[in-house]
Amino acid sequence: MEEIADASTLRAAMAGARCSGKSIGLVPTMGYLHRGHTSLMAHARADNDVVVASIFVNPTQFGPSEDLLRYPRDLERDRAIAKEVGVDVLFVPDAETMYPDGPDHQEIWVDPGSLAAHLDGASRPFHYRGVATVVAKLFNLVQPHRAYFGQKDGQQSLIVGRMARDLAFGIAVVTVPTVREADGLALSSRNVFLSPDERSQAVAIPKALALARNLILDGGHRDARGIAERMRALIEREAPLARIDFIGVVATDTIAPVSTIAGDSMIALAVYFGGARLIDNETVRFIDGTPHFGSR
Ligand code: AMP
Repeated sequence: MEEIADASTLRAAMAGARCSGKSIGLVPTMGYLHRGHTSLMAHARADNDVVVASIFVNPTQFGPSEDLLRYPRDLERDRAIAKEVGVDVLFVPDAETMYPDGPDHQEIWVDPGSLAAHLDGASRPFHYRGVATVVAKLFNLVQPHRAYFGQKDGQQSLIVGRMARDLAFGIAVVTVPTVREADGLALSSRNVFLSPDERSQAVAIPKALALARNLILDGGHRDARGIAERMRALIEREAPLARIDFIGVVATDTIAPVSTIAGDSMIALAVYFGGARLIDNETVRFIDGTPHFGSR
């Protein structure tokens, strides 16, 4: 595995790979790697000749009161994990490489528009502008054939997919299923912040999503507000340490709230445990009027 920190070395390596007809898969991450990340890398490994993973804690996607400075980091461990899963190039830029004039002096941004108006986009103003912009930079630096994103960050994956299309990047955005702990909690770098009590209560998040799935599939429920209220009640009952940021049901194409679940939708939530903000979602697709979940 080659480790590259600067943009020109990366561009040269990628140009070389493309010239020799090799396909390139990109996996952008913020590091502190876990099995969610390695699942993306394994998918990239299976589909491409060259796998590039990036590790960059992107300052422009954090709000002023968020956890940028205490975001967990362990490059040594990340190197070993990336090598083990078969990454060819680990791109580890510093902030100056990604923001030559500094993150506060970025003038030209990728605007995700109304796709960022709801769910996480509403809770975290400018978050998806920062995400879309840094992913566009990575797309330009690597010029991969495919790029891999996790369903866990469902709104992010939808926005990046739409960006690739609307801005003609010519890159296939592949969404990889959420990797979970045995009890259902989605793996996240931020899980490390949970106390033992918070960790055991955090299972209320996947349980709330499972409740929504059962209400829709088995109970025939279609009322988005009613389902969200039942999810809220479950979390309040089972996780007294939780503080719910939002529970929302949106159409997957527009990421706009729906009142009736009658077409392809995403049920998403964000929940704080102490300072850790955890997100998760389930998507439901309708085929011939019948709902189907990714997980069932
Ligand atoms: P992050 O390092 O948290 O920015 O995540 C980097 C990529 O890994 C994003 O595309 C995430 O959606 C994806 N990812 C994070 N956690 C998981 C998970 N539990 N399962 C699948 N993908 C994940």
